[in-house]
Amino acid sequence: MSWRATILTLFPDMFPGPLGLSLAGRALREGRWAIEALDIRSFATDRHRTVDDTPFGGGAGMVMRPDVLDLACEAATSRNPGAPLVYLTPRGRRLDQALVRDLAAGPGVTVLCGRYEGVDQRVIEARQMVEVSAGDFVLSGGEPAALLMLDACIRLLPGVMGAAASAEEESHGAEGLLEYPHYTRPAEWQGRKVPEVLLSGHHAEVARWRRAEAEAATRTRRPDLWERYQTRAGAEPKQAKAGRLDGHPAAA
Ligand code: SAM
Repeated sequence: MSWRATILTLFPDMFPGPLGLSLAGRALREGRWAIEALDIRSFATDRHRTVDDTPFGGGAGMVMRPDVLDLACEAATSRNPGAPLVYLTPRGRRLDQALVRDLAAGPGVTVLCGRYEGVDQRVIEARQMVEVSAGDFVLSGGEPAALLMLDACIRLLPGVMGAAASAEEESHGAEGLLEYPHYTRPAEWQGRKVPEVLLSGHHAEVARWRRAEAEAATRTRRPDLWERYQTRAGAEPKQAKAGRLDGHPAAA
């Protein structure tokens, strides 16, 4: 059975959207993953198909009703049993590659996309939703965040990416480093030359240069990742550390 994404949204036409193109689109057509977008409004029980109401306690905006969302969640989880139910919200834990890897390794994911001011807290708790944020900013709805999260998961599914090694070596891969910079032809462009070592054909030197660049980028751009990387490297047994770093200890 393929990896399955079930989306609860007020805008089902947004899916698969960009995920129907390129790498994810080809994988979708090949049956490596499947997607179904359910319209939350179809679970409303009144004549006007109401999905939201004013917030208790007052304040601006509207809140999505727990009773309607619960019916939608019931339908979604029965279609996607075993898949975690993720509510995308700026209040959630920040999406990162570790969570993406976990989701990609499972049977799929059910995703609730909020709108308005968000979702009644009781249904989040009753359905034991995993609250996930796309980042420290506020979107107008959960749909763009869902597309982003799904894209990150889909490229990790078996057979989706070409080179098996690329997911390990890229940014936020197994090592926890940002990736080294890339260059292609022409070897000189607008007076800017490609680093000499990349033209040398010396694989070990290239690997050494890339490692140093990855470490420098991580140290200067993401001190938080750098600290974690150093802690991990320091915590590993000496022999393993020497092997993994290929004789090039992390710069202090
Ligand atoms: N009132 C909410 C708050 O301050 O946390 C923001 C509501 S936002 C306008 C509407 C919906 O967009 C949210 O319910 C959520 O589903 C989605 N959303 C907004 N920002 C998001 C983010 N950074 N990550 C994931 N989902 C987000």
